[in-house]
Amino acid sequence: MESGAIRDVVILGSGPAGLTAAIYSARADLRPLVIEGEPSSSSDQPGGQLMLTTEVENYPGFAHGVLGPELMVSMRAQAERFGAEIVTEKASKVDLSSAPVGIWIGDPDAPEPSVRARTLIVATGARSLMLGLENEVRLLGYGVSTCATCDGFFFRDKQIIVVGGGDSALEEALFLTKFGDSVTVIHRRKELRASKIMQDRAFRNEKITFRWDSLVTDVLGGERVTGVRLRDVNTGDDSEIAADGVFVAIGHAPSTELFVGKLDMDDAGYLVTHEGTKTNVGGVFACGDVQDHQYRQAVTAAGSGCMAAIDAERYLTSLEQT
Ligand code: NAP
Repeated sequence: MESGAIRDVVILGSGPAGLTAAIYSARADLRPLVIEGEPSSSSDQPGGQLMLTTEVENYPGFAHGVLGPELMVSMRAQAERFGAEIVTEKASKVDLSSAPVGIWIGDPDAPEPSVRARTLIVATGARSLMLGLENEVRLLGYGVSTCATCDGFFFRDKQIIVVGGGDSALEEALFLTKFGDSVTVIHRRKELRASKIMQDRAFRNEKITFRWDSLVTDVLGGERVTGVRLRDVNTGDDSEIAADGVFVAIGHAPSTELFVGKLDMDDAGYLVTHEGTKTNVGGVFACGDVQDHQYRQAVTAAGSGCMAAIDAERYLTSLEQT
């Protein structure tokens, strides 16, 4: 990456939205720069949330399913094939107050941005939510995890807890039955939020049991997880269950910290878009989960990535004509 250069298209994020935007803008000869993020143990990493999934069975074109990480490696290679430049770093600051916009990588206090862009496509996605317990953070990596695909292997023949009642929780629970002796899903209500097909699979699985109407109020353990403390939401009674692993799967929050006060957001922090993928700043577009809390699917993210690339291309053409 040439420092201080002005690029036609810079893309922040490398999930299905960012990489589809990269494929389309690279094929339009716009030589996009993709700032793909940095490796981490959460979904806030290059490739995004699909890096933490196993089988993806609903992405069109794969009759027999495809592994999430495999799909992302393939999308990345496809973007590179058409000339996208990809850097494995994170943006630390943006300046959207004048065009071309500025993007910092590394030291956010550096006097000049690392790169400037005539159009910026924000595809920073969303990441896993945590319960907000002190011991949950302390024991992260010592029995607490947000990623069954990454850490399930370490819980062979162990007692495992999954917290949550959505598709993510059941997907994690089902995956973890490959390793664990037992998997207990702890949900704060009596009805699951997950899709019917996932519920049916989980209910059929002999290794999975459910603990309803229960809140996890503490994660127990010194150096490693030994269990959790629960509160029954109806009776207020506290109880403990033993476990070696606690997988937190309670949903996601958009990665929009860089844009606070700079781009319009809704109450939950998701970017607001209009007329396709336009934000409130000219030349800045948003696609994928960072602006979508309703559909949140790989295919809808990819679709909106395509829209963002086309919107950016049209914006660049309009600049040439003025
Ligand atoms: P979600 O649908 O928002 O579900 C989050 C779950 O966590 C809910 O059951 C919620 O309880 C619970 N929860 C939230 N905050 C909590 C807290 N502080 N303490 C205890 N429980 C808490 O999130 P998701 O499961 O990550 O799914 C997100 C989207 O991705 C959905 O559209 C889903 O269909 C999709 N997805 C699909 C697949 C698949 O098709 N294979 C896999 C994963 C995700 P309440 O129900 O009481 O609100």
